[in-house]
Amino acid sequence: MSKLTFSEAELKRLSPSDLKTLETIKAKLKASNPNKDLLKGLKVVIDAGHGGKDSGAFNAVVKEKDLVLNQAKSLTSMLVSVGAEVFLTRGNDTFVELSQRAKFANTKNADLFISLHANRSQTRSDDSLGFESYVHDSLSKTGKTYKIGKAIHNAVHEKIKPFGIKDRGLKQANFAVLRETKMPAILLECGFLTSTKDTNAMTLDEFRTAYCTGILRGIKEALR
Ligand SMILES: [Zn+2]
Repeated sequence: MSKLTFSEAELKRLSPSDLKTLETIKAKLKASNPNKDLLKGLKVVIDAGHGGKDSGAFNAVVKEKDLVLNQAKSLTSMLVSVGAEVFLTRGNDTFVELSQRAKFANTKNADLFISLHANRSQTRSDDSLGFESYVHDSLSKTGKTYKIGKAIHNAVHEKIKPFGIKDRGLKQANFAVLRETKMPAILLECGFLTSTKDTNAMTLDEFRTAYCTGILRGIKEALR
């Protein structure tokens, strides 16, 4: 059986035993993933930062553009498995302008925009480390987007704390993707690629899973 939904006419042609089999399969599928409709109807745009000619931050081990693309892919499958509709501003190693990313999300009429980045310290002597998130700097701390940002930020840090990642908090900035998107938008900087300690954690598959699980949990909490 290749599909689980049938038209009226098709259903009439199915024998009682076929119908019974169909119901059994549907019940089993639901039992195997009881959360499959949890975020049904939610449209999320996932924005993997940088890409193509723009590597973002980098070190000898990894480039930001690759790290965040992997995160974007993992997060996509997690969100899709709970019923969300997901659109990626880039699904491969291509360069996309910042305004293009925001425009894409606006055209899709998304409910939520999540931009994934990794950080770098500005000066050689600066040995910053840790996880930080951003919402646009014009937003009130009592507003919807700030609350969503806070829920996602806290849930993510809870998940990545065991990897030794420090919490730098939820901040506000005038980043183009946050300014130009019309829906709640949050930008996450998972850690510093200029820090060996953060890099060692961030490049683990287990970290990526924990990080994306945190984002998913934050979305669920924010929408509750
Ligand atoms: Zn970046």
